[in-house]
Amino acid sequence: MSVKIDQIIRSDRKNLEVQISVEGYIIVRAPIEETMESIQDFLDSKKFYLLRTQQIAKVRYLNDLHKKYEEGEKFLFLGKERPLRIVSEQSIPLHYSEGIFYLSSSYLKFANKIFIDWYKEKAKEHIAEITDQYSKLYNIGYEKIIISNAFSQWGSCTGNGILNFSWRSILVPIDVLTYLVVHELAHVMMRDHSDDYWSKVEQMMPDYIKYENWLDKNSHICAMFKNETGTFAKSKSSKENTKEDKSIQLEFNL
Ligand SMILES: [Zn+2]
Repeated sequence: MSVKIDQIIRSDRKNLEVQISVEGYIIVRAPIEETMESIQDFLDSKKFYLLRTQQIAKVRYLNDLHKKYEEGEKFLFLGKERPLRIVSEQSIPLHYSEGIFYLSSSYLKFANKIFIDWYKEKAKEHIAEITDQYSKLYNIGYEKIIISNAFSQWGSCTGNGILNFSWRSILVPIDVLTYLVVHELAHVMMRDHSDDYWSKVEQMMPDYIKYENWLDKNSHICAMFKNETGTFAKSKSSKENTKEDKSIQLEFNL
């Protein structure tokens, strides 16, 4: 049995890159002239590793997608899994206190939307505060913050200084969230990922590599709470094929 390639993207590049998406698809980026045979041979030489990683990705993805809104289920918030309690006497749909979520039983039907709305609100609060703090500290102005539904990237920055963050950023630990803010804020000054850019990031956050690594290992979090009817593209468009694309589980070069 050989490794099944779900998508192959040819471009003017020198190396071969294999990625396993959060959904468990194998995406290969290859130079235009590389033959299918040599690509397949390479993949097959990594067969056990790839198939195993693919399996882990699929299981993890499915587990994350199908959150059940029932007593004892756990929900991520700022990097920690917090238990859910279903309560009957509560006037507001969702209440969070001391690490526990309390969901009103009358709102069970709408639990998914209620949770996402709550996360969005918290994301906005935290991100605005951190952005403000770093913006003042390093004198980097920005236009505004938009909390998006993105699930293939944590954040992005437009040319006119608009910072976009996926509401899912609120699921990661506060230090990692701070890094996400620093990352985008630094893009206001430099849009690329040049050495100068990374020096700026390092100046603002000397131990940022720690958080980059954390995000690499936990990229599946960026796709959490995608409902079953959502359109989850089998692959990302090429413009999203950058370091920003956090939907990737694994990546290595030839
Ligand atoms: Zn970036």
